[in-house]
Amino acid sequence: MKRNRLSVDQYVSGVLEGDRMILSRAITLVESRLDSDQLLAEGVMEQVIPYAGKSIRIGITGVPGVGKSTFIESFGNLILESGYRLAVLAVDPSSQKTGGSILGDKTRMEKLAADKRAYIRPSPAGSTLGGVSAKTREAMLLCEAAGFDVVFIETVGVGQSEIAVRGMVDFFLLLMLAGAGDELQGIKKGIIEMCDALIINKADGENIEASKRAKREYSNALHLFPAKENGWYPKVKTSSAITGDGMTEIWQMILAYKENMLSNGFFESNRASQRVNWMHEHIRYLLESKFYQDPIIKELINSSIENVRVGNTSAIAFGRTLVENFIQKEGRKDE
Ligand code: GDP
Repeated sequence: MKRNRLSVDQYVSGVLEGDRMILSRAITLVESRLDSDQLLAEGVMEQVIPYAGKSIRIGITGVPGVGKSTFIESFGNLILESGYRLAVLAVDPSSQKTGGSILGDKTRMEKLAADKRAYIRPSPAGSTLGGVSAKTREAMLLCEAAGFDVVFIETVGVGQSEIAVRGMVDFFLLLMLAGAGDELQGIKKGIIEMCDALIINKADGENIEASKRAKREYSNALHLFPAKENGWYPKVKTSSAITGDGMTEIWQMILAYKENMLSNGFFESNRASQRVNWMHEHIRYLLESKFYQDPIIKELINSSIENVRVGNTSAIAFGRTLVENFIQKEGRKDE
């Protein structure tokens, strides 16, 4: 059953009142690819953004199996007990295939999923990272306007999506395991450089000693990196998502970071440059989707793709012809 759309005012007032049903519908609206929905979504976002921005935004990454969902359940519940409201979102362009990582993991987030102070939303369906991360950013702002004052953004730690998440959060946590080599964990050096803290998870039972050792080794290795521009040296901590050990310390570290960055001005300047990057991303996203949805462009691509594939048509020349074609056609619309 297709529900009637709400008006901009109905979405906005519902979100601001913290109505979860309307929040979910507003996120579905921003995720829609229909032109008419996008216009409506823009209207909603315009009015909601002034009320957003007040949360602590935390990125959480790590390879599958490292314990992200279990960690989010444990860490998330601590945050709720500390009096905050928490939204959990995911950036995972591959989730179309797997059916949504967060929903699939809901059993590992049972308490959070049942708690009214928490809101869990799986990755939007989308084939491109640009599209998925654009929607996630808007979903984050809607959650903030709805009164969630901590936002987790989970990503599967293997590459591009970390960069997207780094660009929308205040603090970035990388979950790792003791014992497994970096290559084994699919962790690129670049990702380690991007993180504000490295967490050795599953530091429990027989794994405690190895985790402490890993903590020492990573701390030594991280000391070789220069301090970040904001003066912060990435920290290394251990945690157990099963026993809850280490969670309080991690939360204290993030609060101290926020305090620190608010006083040296980095918190706001970082968000300011994130907003500018967001604008550029959005421009790219709009141009690209308009271009590829254009029926004439679609037809031209369909009819010539084989020639490009076999090398009879130059990829560069054909690409330029398509873009020029598109620009001319758009220009004629205004005449
Ligand atoms: P994800 O793929 O990164 O989301 O990982 P999951 O949260 O699904 O966890 C993968 C497996 O590791 C599950 O069987 C968890 O029960 C287990 N696990 C997660 N965190 C811990 C931990 O801190 N200690 C132990 N011993 N097991 C854990």
